[in-house]
Amino acid sequence: MVIVLDLGHGGRDPGAVGFGLQEKDVVLALGRQVLSFLEDYQVNVIPTRTSDVYVSLADRANLANHHKADFFCSLHINSGGGSGFESYIHPDASQKSQSMAATLHREVSKFYLERGFPDRGLKRANFAVLRKTTMPAVLLENLFIDNPQDAACLADPVFLRDLAFAITGGLARTLGLKKRTGWDPNEEIKRLKEHGLITGDHAPNAAVTWGELATVLNRLLDRFEN
Ligand SMILES: [Zn+2]
Repeated sequence: MVIVLDLGHGGRDPGAVGFGLQEKDVVLALGRQVLSFLEDYQVNVIPTRTSDVYVSLADRANLANHHKADFFCSLHINSGGGSGFESYIHPDASQKSQSMAATLHREVSKFYLERGFPDRGLKRANFAVLRKTTMPAVLLENLFIDNPQDAACLADPVFLRDLAFAITGGLARTLGLKKRTGWDPNEEIKRLKEHGLITGDHAPNAAVTWGELATVLNRLLDRFEN
C-alpha cells in the first residue's frame, strides 16, 4: 500500500497567509506529524516534500503517478473568509475516489466537530493535483488561516499534533491500514515490490539466485546514481 502525502506549497510559494502564519509552514509541521504517526502502520508513505522547498503541482502529481500510489492526500490551509474544515475531490472523481474521500472526510470532520469547528463538507474542484493524479485523490482544507479563532489553533503545536493524529486515523480507516507488528517477512517483500526493487511474488523462504540478487542491487545502484 502506497500513500503520497502532499504537503501543499513551500519555498517561494507561501500559500495563504494570516496572523503571522504562512500556509506552507503550518502544512509542513502538520505533514511531518502525519508522516511520523503513519510509521506505526504497514504502509509506504511518500511525501511530496519534507522541508521548505518549492515543488510544482505537476511534479507532485507525477510523483504519485510514478509510484503508482493507492491514494493521494493533499494537505492545505484555507483562506478567504470562513471557518472550519472542508475537503475536495475532482469533479470527475471515480466512484472509488468518491467513497474513499467520503470516509476520510467523515473521520477528520469528527475531530473538528468535537472542537466546535464547522464541517463545510466534501466538495468538488478542478484542482491541478486532483486532475493530474491517476489514483483516488483528496485535498484537505484545514481551517482558515485568516480567521482569528482558526489561526490561533493552527499556531498551537498541540492542536496540530492532535489534528495530525486524526488525519492519520482517517487515512488508516480509509485504506484499511494495519498497525505494524513485529517482523513480517511477507511485509518486507511487499515493501520491496512497492518500491519497484523486485517484481512478482516471492515466498519468504524461497532461495535467491545470484542473477536475482544482482538485479535488486543494480536497481538500488541506479537510484543512488540518479
Ligand atoms: Zn493551499
